[in-house]
Amino acid sequence: MIITHTIEDFRANRHAEPGLTWGLVPTMGALHAGHLSLVRRARVENDRVAVSIFVNPTQFNNPDDLARYPRDLDADAALLEAEGVDLIWAPTPEIVYPQGYQTTVTVAEVTKPLEGAHRPGHFQGVATIVAKLFNVCQPDRAYFGQKDAQQVVVIKQMVRDLAFPLEIVVCPIVREPDGLALSSRNTLLNPTERQAATVLGRALSAAVDAYDAGQRDADTLRKTMTDLIAAEPLAHIDYVSAADPVTLEELDGPVQRALFSMAVFIGDVRLIDNMTVGNEPAA
Ligand code: AMP
Repeated sequence: MIITHTIEDFRANRHAEPGLTWGLVPTMGALHAGHLSLVRRARVENDRVAVSIFVNPTQFNNPDDLARYPRDLDADAALLEAEGVDLIWAPTPEIVYPQGYQTTVTVAEVTKPLEGAHRPGHFQGVATIVAKLFNVCQPDRAYFGQKDAQQVVVIKQMVRDLAFPLEIVVCPIVREPDGLALSSRNTLLNPTERQAATVLGRALSAAVDAYDAGQRDADTLRKTMTDLIAAEPLAHIDYVSAADPVTLEELDGPVQRALFSMAVFIGDVRLIDNMTVGNEPAA
């Protein structure tokens, strides 16, 4: 496994052997089994696997969140080596955004609700860094987690609109045995908060169970989630949503298919999670 930092060094290694397929797994490091599930899928589907590790400052709307985001390149590299990864790109912010940098990518409608409404500028940061990653790494396939459901919709829209010549592969959410979705931010929770954090998975499962039992009213399904979260003293709702999985527009009245999603503060750690019911959205 080769660890690169500069664009030139990454590209030299990426293009060293002609004719091979490459899978790219974009990450912000602090890797866990959720990230590794993407790496394993990429390992099976491509001749070579690259992983990018970059805590992208432009997608953080909260400076404290950026400052305390966990970072450990050595530990990440050890995990990736064990998974048979070929190439890492771990650039500095100065490499990605050198002096004089001025280009951004804006995806319009699907960035407006949910995370976009609560994290101003977040998806412009995401779309811009992912576009740059795709240009630098030139993968045949790029792997993303359903954990960041809106991010998947935004990236697919960008890939379609700008005709990036690659396939987006979406991988299921990896959870702890008690249902908590794996997240690098989980390490910031103290033991009491860690226990309280199970409320996200419980609330989403309750909405899925209600849907499976025949409940179709969007407000009632949302209330099923908000009531459960309200019962957890350490949890504070940022948003709770039952939206269309394709357009991400909030649902009203009877629902056929829905993306249940939420952002909830546990103490001062903001966690997101989601589950989908009904017809799967088109790939
Ligand atoms: P991040 O490092 O948080 O930017 O995540 C990098 C990629 O890993 C994103 O595509 C995430 O959606 C994905 N990911 C993060 N957590 C999980 C999880 N628990 N299960 C599956 N994929 C995940």
